Amino acid sequence: MHILIVEHNPAQSKLTRIALQERGAEVHCATALEPALECLLKLKIDVVLLDLALPDSPGIETFYQIRGKAPGIPIIIFTEQDDQNLALEAVKHGAQDYVLKNVVGDDSLFRCLQYAIERSRVELALRKSEERLRVILENSHDAFISMDSKWRITDWNTQAEKTFGWQKEEALGQSIASIIPHHLRKQYLHGLEEYFSKNSEEILKITNESFAVHSDGHEFPAEIGIFRIMEDSDYLFCAFVRDITARKKSNEELERLIEERSEKLMQSNEELRQFAKIASHDLQEPLRAVQGFANLLAESTKGKLEKDPSDFIDYILDGTQRMQDLIRSVLTHSQINSSDFGDYSTNCNSVIEEVLSNLNTSIQETEAYLEVDKLPQVAVERSQVVQLFQNLISNALKYRGSKTPEIYLKAEKSVDKWLFSVRDNSIGIDPKYSEKIFDMFARLHGKTSYPGSGMGLAICKKIVTSHGGDIWVESELGHGSIFLFTLPSVRKLRRKKMKDQIEILLVEDTPSDIRLTQEALKRSDLKYEMIVVNDGVEAMDYLNKLKESAGKTLPDIILLDLNMPKKNGHEVLDEIKNDSVLKKIPVVLLTVSQRDEDVMEALKLKMNYYIAKPVTAQKLAVLIKSIHELQTEKSDDTIAHSNEENHIRLVLAGNPHTSPIALTQLADDSNDRVRCRVAENAQVPQTLLAKLANDPSTEVRLGVSENLNVPASILELLAQDPSEDVRLGLAGNPRIPEHILKNLVNDENIHVSSSASKTLCQISAKS
Ligand code: ADP
Repeated sequence: MHILIVEHNPAQSKLTRIALQERGAEVHCATALEPALECLLKLKIDVVLLDLALPDSPGIETFYQIRGKAPGIPIIIFTEQDDQNLALEAVKHGAQDYVLKNVVGDDSLFRCLQYAIERSRVELALRKSEERLRVILENSHDAFISMDSKWRITDWNTQAEKTFGWQKEEALGQSIASIIPHHLRKQYLHGLEEYFSKNSEEILKITNESFAVHSDGHEFPAEIGIFRIMEDSDYLFCAFVRDITARKKSNEELERLIEERSEKLMQSNEELRQFAKIASHDLQEPLRAVQGFANLLAESTKGKLEKDPSDFIDYILDGTQRMQDLIRSVLTHSQINSSDFGDYSTNCNSVIEEVLSNLNTSIQETEAYLEVDKLPQVAVERSQVVQLFQNLISNALKYRGSKTPEIYLKAEKSVDKWLFSVRDNSIGIDPKYSEKIFDMFARLHGKTSYPGSGMGLAICKKIVTSHGGDIWVESELGHGSIFLFTLPSVRKLRRKKMKDQIEILLVEDTPSDIRLTQEALKRSDLKYEMIVVNDGVEAMDYLNKLKESAGKTLPDIILLDLNMPKKNGHEVLDEIKNDSVLKKIPVVLLTVSQRDEDVMEALKLKMNYYIAKPVTAQKLAVLIKSIHELQTEKSDDTIAHSNEENHIRLVLAGNPHTSPIALTQLADDSNDRVRCRVAENAQVPQTLLAKLANDPSTEVRLGVSENLNVPASILELLAQDPSEDVRLGLAGNPRIPEHILKNLVNDENIHVSSSASKTLCQISAKS
């Protein structure tokens, strides 16, 4: 510690110096202001012990002079008892402290000096960090505002001046309201108060659609972050505000550009499609004329012409035939539209039957051998699937070379799509052309060796890619080829489909039950609109009026109370179900009973669903969703004949609130789909699951394999299931024990093993 004693009395100075030196300090002394200032300039001093009564500069001026020369060095005033006022004044202006000569002990003086140095260091560090913060705030691209608990502005950086147009002096003391647009003030301030009073969160980030106002009155979009700090039992608020006008503009501009471009693209696509369509239609007409007259010419000159002119006519006929094929292919290509990705369910087995019958002649001629596995349903329009398989199989026949063609068709499930393969023993394709062959008009052979337009694979590619799939070939010259492609499975589409808003008619006379049902619906995740009528007569009036007024839609579901005055639920149900228009609306009976017998009764009752009161959000949501899902489901081969009773059974089978007794009955249903729904039901008793795990239908066993409540013993059994689908379902089930998954990783089917590895990874990532 280096101390400078500034003391005019040499005796006092000496005494103090010795006392401090004894305590390990290095001490310098000055008896007047001038030498003191010199000392400060030349020596390293940590603290000054200053007597204010110097002969050359008496009073507070001495303090200012010393302080001015060494602003960072702490000063302790060394004063006489009766000079205390002067010492206090110096403390007010920045001296660290004062001590009384002859009163302060040597130890206390030494400690006081040590403390002064320490405090000065801390203050310096604090000042530096404040300065740094200030620099950061002043250079920030965000406006920074701090406010007291009454939202009055207490600080305002340079960027705030730029953003809001108010100078700091003008802004300080104003309310935050001055930067909020007038029409939004109430709403914003109320929102802020409410947020901070209700939330324990200390930060509120408002990133979109908020506005601030400039001093010139113009409003601008702003991104705002507000946080609060507790200080002296009151809150302070700080806000960062960023003017996002430019960002918004450029986003809007970008969006506009994208919209403009996609519109142009759509327009030019449509124009192209129209052009291809019209051109190919119109081109066909003159072509038919040329073809017709060339044929006439050939017939009328048959045997009369010399070889050359006769050959020329043959060339014309051949050319026109090829042109016709080309035009047809271009037309087909142009008509494949990606918006066709709709709710189709096409059975590929019957597609193959059709294709084989179309290609029957060449199959007979070439004596081709075909092996076709059982194929699935796909969510693609039928004629496109026919086209796809027909092009691939006819290529396999065409490019057979000198061998008897062998063609193998397979399909494997991979999560939500099917991977098909068409393998042949053809002349094969050089891998360097494996992408090019899918281009329009791309051909690898001259027309004399193999006829064709080069459009077949381009059409296949367009069909597959417009359904979100991929198509590729694996081949080598001379070693046959395998064409692989993916198509969306029907199941995925089925699960995805759900109408946006469900219209519900509630027929109920008890106000408390109406309220309960309304609340249950509110709490569910359904998007719905509900109309309430209070008795059966009113319900029928309402429905009949809807039926008669054009343009009005009928409700999607009716929730019907059984016990009502005037006309009870059974009567209403009877009328609805005997009306040719109304009968298609599913009716859910609301009953007060929870007894199994009543569930069974409801099962027997023709065409109704059942829900026991009190209606809860979960019960209602599950039931309405499953009714709706089945209602909107497009019928495929398996449910084409399912009548409404079957439909109800399906809903009950999938409903976790259906009683175990009813589920036991449904597990014996003759319809595979009903049993499958029971197998998927999370509440199904384990004894039933054991039975369903041995069901002859693959889909039912698949349902069990995907059920999250299956015990390990059943899972072990299913891991040995002959169906790859079932094992695939199991491999994707995250509840399955690790040892079974590890076995499935070695499954012979690559999809099963890769799905099992994926599930294993997910499980180990979680744990
Ligand atoms: P096209 O058969 O009319 O020439 P495609 O688009 O159907 O047109 O096929 C493009 C090219 O791909 C064919 O010219 C042929 O060289 C090759 N190709 C297609 N399928 C096979 C196959 N199964 N085996 C060998 N080559 C094939």
